[in-house]
Amino acid sequence: MPLKFTLARQAYLLICIPLVFQICFVLALIVLVKDANEQAAVQAKLKEKIGVLEDLYSLPVQMRTAAKAYMLSSSQSDMTEFENARQQMRGDLDKLLKMTANIPAQQAIIKKLDRDIVEGLRRADEFMALIQEDKTNVAERFNELMQVMIPVEIENVKTIRSFVAELKSEDNKRPDIQKSLSDQVVILILIGVSAVVILDIALAVWFSNGTAKRLSILMDNTAKLALGKELNPPTKGSDEITDLDEVFHSMAAVLRDAEQKERAMVENAVDVICSLDSDGKFLRVSPAAATVWHVDAEELVGQRVIKLFPPEQREQFVQTLKSLVDRREKSEFESLMLLPDGSTRHILWSVQWSRAEKALFCVAHDITERKRNEEALRESEARTRLVIETMPVGVMLLDRRGQINQVNPMMRKLFLRHRSDELIGSQLTDLCATQNTVNQPSTQQLSELFDKAMGRFQEVTAKRANGTEFPAEVLLTPFGGPNSGKLLGMIMDVTERHEIERFKNEFLGVVSHELRNPLTAIRGSLKMMMVGALGQQTEQAQKAITIAERSATRLIGLVNDLLDAEKLEAGKLDMQFELRPLYPILEMGVESVKAFADDHQVTVQYKQTESLVYADDHRIVQVLINLLSNAIKYSPKGSTVRVDVVSIGDLDEVRITDQGRGIPASHVNSLFQRFKQVERSDATAKGGTGLGLVICKAIIEQHMGTIGVESEIGKGSTFWFRLPNKIASAQSTPAHALSAPRDRAGQPEII
Ligand code: ADP
Repeated sequence: MPLKFTLARQAYLLICIPLVFQICFVLALIVLVKDANEQAAVQAKLKEKIGVLEDLYSLPVQMRTAAKAYMLSSSQSDMTEFENARQQMRGDLDKLLKMTANIPAQQAIIKKLDRDIVEGLRRADEFMALIQEDKTNVAERFNELMQVMIPVEIENVKTIRSFVAELKSEDNKRPDIQKSLSDQVVILILIGVSAVVILDIALAVWFSNGTAKRLSILMDNTAKLALGKELNPPTKGSDEITDLDEVFHSMAAVLRDAEQKERAMVENAVDVICSLDSDGKFLRVSPAAATVWHVDAEELVGQRVIKLFPPEQREQFVQTLKSLVDRREKSEFESLMLLPDGSTRHILWSVQWSRAEKALFCVAHDITERKRNEEALRESEARTRLVIETMPVGVMLLDRRGQINQVNPMMRKLFLRHRSDELIGSQLTDLCATQNTVNQPSTQQLSELFDKAMGRFQEVTAKRANGTEFPAEVLLTPFGGPNSGKLLGMIMDVTERHEIERFKNEFLGVVSHELRNPLTAIRGSLKMMMVGALGQQTEQAQKAITIAERSATRLIGLVNDLLDAEKLEAGKLDMQFELRPLYPILEMGVESVKAFADDHQVTVQYKQTESLVYADDHRIVQVLINLLSNAIKYSPKGSTVRVDVVSIGDLDEVRITDQGRGIPASHVNSLFQRFKQVERSDATAKGGTGLGLVICKAIIEQHMGTIGVESEIGKGSTFWFRLPNKIASAQSTPAHALSAPRDRAGQPEII
């Protein structure tokens, strides 16, 4: 990995290079100073040597003078002076021996001097010892001694002088050495200072061209980024500045990307996004203004926003904007806007003041549609409320525990309360009279009522505030979603219907006994008259009797059908359900219409079948007779009516197919309703009542079966009905079969 020239390393270089150089420079100076000191020490020693040597000139003279004085005075002080001079001479010689120890030539000179001086001193000592004992002829003896010693001394003085001269000449050379040393120091200082200056300048230039220049590029990039300009190309290098520049470039790319996305969002936003100055003038407006406000965004820039407001709302809007300036939090409010095309829009404003930009940033969301929907919803709610409140049915909201939470005014009327809220909080079971004498817990009563009235009308005996009771029907349905725990209840006073039913029952009783019986008697008499049992009639009378008999027969048929239909729909017709073979039923049905088929010259075909159906055989024969006689009635002469049986899972289907006129598609669904006939003439021409299919449908549905027709105009029709077969019977016993009464009382007559 290449060495990274980091800023820290650059700083170390900037400090260390001059430092190393300065250390070298100081070391060189120390060496030179040490050299100079050594030279000075050598010079001092030379001077000391010269001084000691020069002492050696004077000391023999001092000794001689002291000796002479002693000879004359014999004074002890002269003797002491002699001794001192003598000792100093000895000391000087020792010093010189020591000083010249490392210089053999000089040591040799000093050793010779030492030998001569030691000899001279020995003689002088002898002389002094002699003159202390014998003071005679002292002067002659002194002269004798001098004669011996002076030549030696002269010789020594010469030696010393030449030695001193040599030393002095050597000493004279010293100033040159010192000068050269001080010159060297000056030169060294000059070189050192110049080198440091050059080095510092070079480092400064290097730092400026590298680091400082790149730092200024970085600063320039910062300014460019702030202004949104293109950045300088990436800097080269391997330090933190390059890293920082790299990060800066990628940051700029991310910012540019974010800015582009933000611009795209603003430009493509469905809402109008705009900025306003503190005076409410548009600074920028997103292009959505053209589609939402029908004003070009560019046109709005510089204009005051309140121009787009209805005059009465302008002041309030200005005040709102003013209150937002300098407030940090976002504010939301609604206003109306008057667009140049004259339309009025509801706008939800989200506004925030930007202190840095000194502008209000706004998002204007058009909520006109929402307002309209809200208004429509309010109106619809009001309508619904009105409907519920004026409904002639009691409506209530209750919870799963049967507690009533809300009621409509009809509830108050039904239960004779002064105020609707008297019912709120009461239990549903409190409004019903207890049916059984056993004291049943109210929770059990409630769950029974829930079971029975959930999704279907259940008859109950309701109880008013004054204790009176009335028959009512209750219907409960879940309300407000599966988890709301609420139920919607409807309660209807059925007193009137009960009255009508009672009246109808009475009427049916009258019809069945008071109308059918006489009619049957009339028909019997007419038949007797027809066959001449009551005497021969004229031809005209015979014709009239025949017509009268046919009408009486039709009337009896109509009365029977009416009674059957009523009883079937009221569930009052008893049926005996059993798993039985279908074939005998088919046989009986076909046999019953055989004469009728022969009259119409129509053949009825049917085949053996193993089918077992869960049915009341008499009622199914009644259905078969009805469908077969219709098929025969509407079949052309010479055609065939076919009876087929097919199995469809747990149901067996009986199909009666004719080749008659067929039934138009528009009538197919209504045929099973009362008195519906394809053609008006069917009642008179074909002798129908329009109740046969209604009775068939009621019978089949009580068998838990279904009935229908498939037909094509001109090609014939297939009436079919399906009954539970042995599979269905094995799976479960139909509930109605278990509950159906077993006696056959009141069973209607088969037509
Ligand atoms: P109706 O006593 O009139 O036959 P139904 O209820 O049995 O009463 O039949 C209703 C009407 O349905 C008939 O009047 C007739 O118009 C039409 N219809 C019933 N069966 C057929 C059929 N097989 N072909 C054509 N039309 C039929």
